Amino acid sequence: MKFETLAIHAGQGPDPAYGAVMTPIYQTSTFAFKGVNAPGPFDYSRSGNPTRKALEDCLAALEGGTHGFAFATGQAAEATFLSQFGPGDHLIAHDDIYGGTYRLLVNLLREKGVPVDFVNLRDLDAFTRAIRVNTRAVWTETPTNPLMNLLDLAAIAAVAKQHGIITVCDNTFLSPYFQRPLDLGIDVVLHSTTKYINGHSDVVGGALITRDPALAERIGFYQNAMGTCAGPQDCFLVLRGVKTLAVRMDAHNRNALGLARWLEAHPKVDRVLHPGLESHPQHALARRQMTGCGGTFSFRVKGGQEEAFRLLSSVKLFTLAESLGGVESLIEHPWTMTHVSMPEAVRAAVGITDNLIRVSVGIEHLDDLIADLEQAFAGV
Ligand SMILES: *Cc1c(COP(=O)(O)O)cnc(C)c1O
Repeated sequence: MKFETLAIHAGQGPDPAYGAVMTPIYQTSTFAFKGVNAPGPFDYSRSGNPTRKALEDCLAALEGGTHGFAFATGQAAEATFLSQFGPGDHLIAHDDIYGGTYRLLVNLLREKGVPVDFVNLRDLDAFTRAIRVNTRAVWTETPTNPLMNLLDLAAIAAVAKQHGIITVCDNTFLSPYFQRPLDLGIDVVLHSTTKYINGHSDVVGGALITRDPALAERIGFYQNAMGTCAGPQDCFLVLRGVKTLAVRMDAHNRNALGLARWLEAHPKVDRVLHPGLESHPQHALARRQMTGCGGTFSFRVKGGQEEAFRLLSSVKLFTLAESLGGVESLIEHPWTMTHVSMPEAVRAAVGITDNLIRVSVGIEHLDDLIADLEQAFAGV
């Protein structure tokens, strides 16, 4: 079945108890055994829950995987996956990734004695040079947050396979509607379902998806052992959101590209970072690897922090807030908001400057979004 159909039906048949068409919220911690030594399909909600299973099966189908796992947050998904590594292992991560992922790798994994090297993975030679005999995994994210750089997933996966290295891709920015990393050879897909997959800014959640049975067994073991799973109420909300993923992503994509083109022609804008623009240095890779660019991108205003702050404090329709992927438009300043957990020198080295602004373009009418930025720029 096609994506739109799977989003509505995969994992979500009528409920066996009463035929409810919408997956019920199984708000229960425990399940009655059928008899002594005879549990039913579920026994305890940390180990498994029917509402969560519906979401996990749906997400697995959308990414072309065989196993899905739903977590309390995106960070919980990351921490659970990373728990399988310990002293003696070595990891490689792209050098321009989500600030929270960076913090987890540096302050949690390195602290417990697992060396992590941050490498610009757009450079395959640099990747190959960084590989050691004990390199276990490579962490990718594309497009990157907030710089919108792209990584060639098929090329990275091919190199990693030769060395027996597990590949992970954070697919939060595009969702499986616009990019399917497993089809490109990646082993594990990560999502902050908080963003586009839920799409309504009313849940925090995360997911891991794979088609590798051995990895799935390890992830399932850690999810149960650590208790990082998502609760049934949140799973219900994410399931409700995911049904409209295809129509929302098309609307986000259209609005964001329209706004990016308008900004590119604006005299007070220095540069627009959007892979759908012909001016993006990796536009050809975008066309090859993705079927759309989603709703989030960044731009640099002419000037510095003062000009950026003027714009941010003059918007009326855009909301000044962290996060992304909801139906409403948000605007933020990575230097002082989403990326403060990254040391200043690292931010500067990768190009997160104080005049950089990130927008999460919602599905309002594009004319209203342009009008809001137009009036806000008048104050800059
Ligand atoms: C938000 C985000 C995360 C973390 O997810 P939470 O749900 O906030 O824990 C990870 N990666 C990316 C790209 C994100 O945008």
